[in-house]
Amino acid sequence: MPSRYRAPRGTADILPQDQPFWQLVQGTAERLCRVFGYSRIETPIFEEVSLFARGVGEATEIVEKQMYVFQDRGGQEMVLRPEGTAGICRAYLQNGMFSLPQPVRLWYLGPFFRYDRPQAGRYRQFTQFGAEAIGEADPAIDAEIIELLWRFYLELGLTQLTLQLNSIGDGRCRPGYLEALRSYYVDKLKLVCNDCEGRFQRNPLRLLDCKEERCQPVIAGAPPIIDFLCPECADHLSGLRRYLEAIPIPYAINPRLVRGLDYYTRTVFEVMPPGEGAQSVLGAGGRYDGLIQELGGRPTPGIGFAAGIERIILNLKRQGVKAPELPSLQVFIAHQGQAARVAAFRLASDLRRQGISALVATGQRSLKAQMRQADADGALFAAILGQRELAAGTVVLRRLADGHQETVPMAEVGRRLQAIKLG
Ligand code: AMP
Repeated sequence: MPSRYRAPRGTADILPQDQPFWQLVQGTAERLCRVFGYSRIETPIFEEVSLFARGVGEATEIVEKQMYVFQDRGGQEMVLRPEGTAGICRAYLQNGMFSLPQPVRLWYLGPFFRYDRPQAGRYRQFTQFGAEAIGEADPAIDAEIIELLWRFYLELGLTQLTLQLNSIGDGRCRPGYLEALRSYYVDKLKLVCNDCEGRFQRNPLRLLDCKEERCQPVIAGAPPIIDFLCPECADHLSGLRRYLEAIPIPYAINPRLVRGLDYYTRTVFEVMPPGEGAQSVLGAGGRYDGLIQELGGRPTPGIGFAAGIERIILNLKRQGVKAPELPSLQVFIAHQGQAARVAAFRLASDLRRQGISALVATGQRSLKAQMRQADADGALFAAILGQRELAAGTVVLRRLADGHQETVPMAEVGRRLQAIKLG
């Protein structure tokens, strides 16, 4: 009987049948991060509001419109974290990681929250896998982070992805570009959407990021930021390109690529699946050389990415990638009679201690019904324990795939199942 309660809009239950994909994605992330020398970090799900207002930027869409803000019972303004980088930079400072050898390489995987308009691949609670390398300005680190993200998709089996790359300059060259962008837009404000009028005032770089149809021709004619980079930013970009070409990782320079968060400097990148719009970006990131200082630390460069897991799983299914099945239940223990019931319970406990997955029938079901249940649970074997077996100290071990059965001493069941597994 369905309840009147539903999961909140924009959230989803991740059911047991979805787990093979989640295990595949999480396992791949974990393995790759080990190979690349990244250590796991997890930060709290909620943080002070001001961390994101400062870090991500007051005039960004996330901070203006998408944060789940609440006041806790002590009157503190808190927010369910909308992104990972600000919290990790806070943790880097708070835990004195600046005293460690630099760069500090970290990765995370967990839930994030944005009050967004839910649609396919866009949720209000979603999961990101991300990595950050803090404390190094060398473009080799940019290439390393991009390689980690790229390999992640490749190893999952996704194909036909494109990597787009741009540099959005830094505090030296970006102001000059923004001036050029403003003077290009100033006589075109009648042509663009309302949001873009606001962006023109408060966050002009985001003009390039608008998805509205009517703004596209204006964006297409805008001056490319790459032409305005100072020599240091231009060198950084060519250094990065050299490394990417050496690996090689295929990329395309997209001079209109900017990112939604204010903290980015220089390198920005996005990975797109085949044939879709920007709504479907699979993963993205960039350099944030000003963020740590913004949060009260010494000037410290950093770079990272975040990849949305739900969106990846959607694409894996679309591209027909199969996730390896999770291991089956090894044995289901069926029994008949009160004494056998307790012995079955004890046998299950013994087997689990040996690392064998075991379930024991509960309730008052006939042997036939118990065997049906063993099938329904996907067990490889049933161990049957009746009065006769109990008296003899044995069980009947039945292979459910073909009905082959043998009588095994109770104390040998574990060893027998292990042997079959190894064989
Ligand atoms: P961002 O932090 O906005 O750069 O997003 C990084 C990645 O997280 C995106 O490429 C998506 O894969 C994923 N992502 C961001 N927002 C959402 C959302 N509302 N629902 C699902 N995935 C998201």
